[in-house]
Amino acid sequence: MSYKAEYIWIDGTEPTAELRSKTKIVADGAEPPVWGFDGSSTNQAEGHASDRVLKPVFTCPDPIRGGSSVLVLCEVLNIDGTPHESNKRALLAPIAEQFAAQESIFGIEQEYTFLTEDGRPLGFPEGGFPAPQGPYYCGVGAGKIVGREIVEKHLDYCLEAGLGISGINAEVMPGQWEFQVGPLSPLEVSDQMWIARWLLHRVAEDYGVVVSLDAKPAKGDWNGAGAHTNFSTKAMREGYDAIITACEALGADQDKVMEHVTQYGTGVEERLTGKHETAPWNVYSYGVSNRGASVRIPWQVEVDRKGYIEDRRPNANVDPYVVTRLLVNTCCTALEK
Ligand code: ADP
Ligand code: MN
Ligand code: MN
Ligand code: MN
Ligand code: MN
Repeated sequence: MSYKAEYIWIDGTEPTAELRSKTKIVADGAEPPVWGFDGSSTNQAEGHASDRVLKPVFTCPDPIRGGSSVLVLCEVLNIDGTPHESNKRALLAPIAEQFAAQESIFGIEQEYTFLTEDGRPLGFPEGGFPAPQGPYYCGVGAGKIVGREIVEKHLDYCLEAGLGISGINAEVMPGQWEFQVGPLSPLEVSDQMWIARWLLHRVAEDYGVVVSLDAKPAKGDWNGAGAHTNFSTKAMREGYDAIITACEALGADQDKVMEHVTQYGTGVEERLTGKHETAPWNVYSYGVSNRGASVRIPWQVEVDRKGYIEDRRPNANVDPYVVTRLLVNTCCTALEK
């Protein structure tokens, strides 16, 4: 007997990487082995030397196929065993290891937008616009909500896969939704976010619906799509001084601000305008309860004098391996002092 293993990896598409997957039949009792693919078809190799390696790093039950089928998230390696340049997980692992004693955990809020196959947000009438924003966020009822069937199915699949999904909600723009993964360690939250994204694309595919992680899918007076990244270390969960140290470290100087924001996904300037619950992309600020700041300290955290911070700048299309690495590196370095 044998089982189906869906090998999932992150490709080399510029400027925003996309997901790829293919199926391997594996003998019962055997672990999913190292495999390969044609990197010249995924922007990860030239045709004359096209082989790239898939190294399994995270496996979970496949809730779509069921039975003994599995999803296998992979890192992409070159044939000499070194990480491929598109492989951002390989950059996170040593940083996570270096600061492991600080026990960083993350909860990432993944916003996304459903589109028709010709690129219109679901709920936007052909050639026009729906009623202005207001009734849609956490709404209920026809005329306010579209795509709920897909969203519910995705939630069930994430739970069946054993992912640490912590909630879902309808967003401010029609056709826009959010799910949250975490709190989990840097590698766990990132691996599981990529699997959850894959499951979302896969479920929506059956409905002929496109999932967009575009940061500003509708121009004009419509909210963009972000990936607010909630972060704490053990010290931050125990005291307020560490919360402030982390907030200050993220704005230590303009180079630090730019180092983060330029790696927070494609189209940061379009989304972080200072309007629509955002701060201007190139001006750092933090504040309690402030949804117009770069980094928000939740009100409960100020009351409790401990907890976590929310970096509101990452775009929906951010690579979780990148944002978690930057936050751990910047904040844990400052907290170590
Ligand atoms: P918002 O109020 O900004 O919409 P959400 O409820 O959508 O917040 O998301 C908050 C996320 O923060 C959740 O994924 C939650 O698990 C995570 N979280 C809660 N406590 C912590 C913590 N101490 N450290 C890191 N993440 C946390
Ligand atoms: Mn072939
Ligand atoms: Mn949220
Ligand atoms: Mn949101
Ligand atoms: Mn948030």
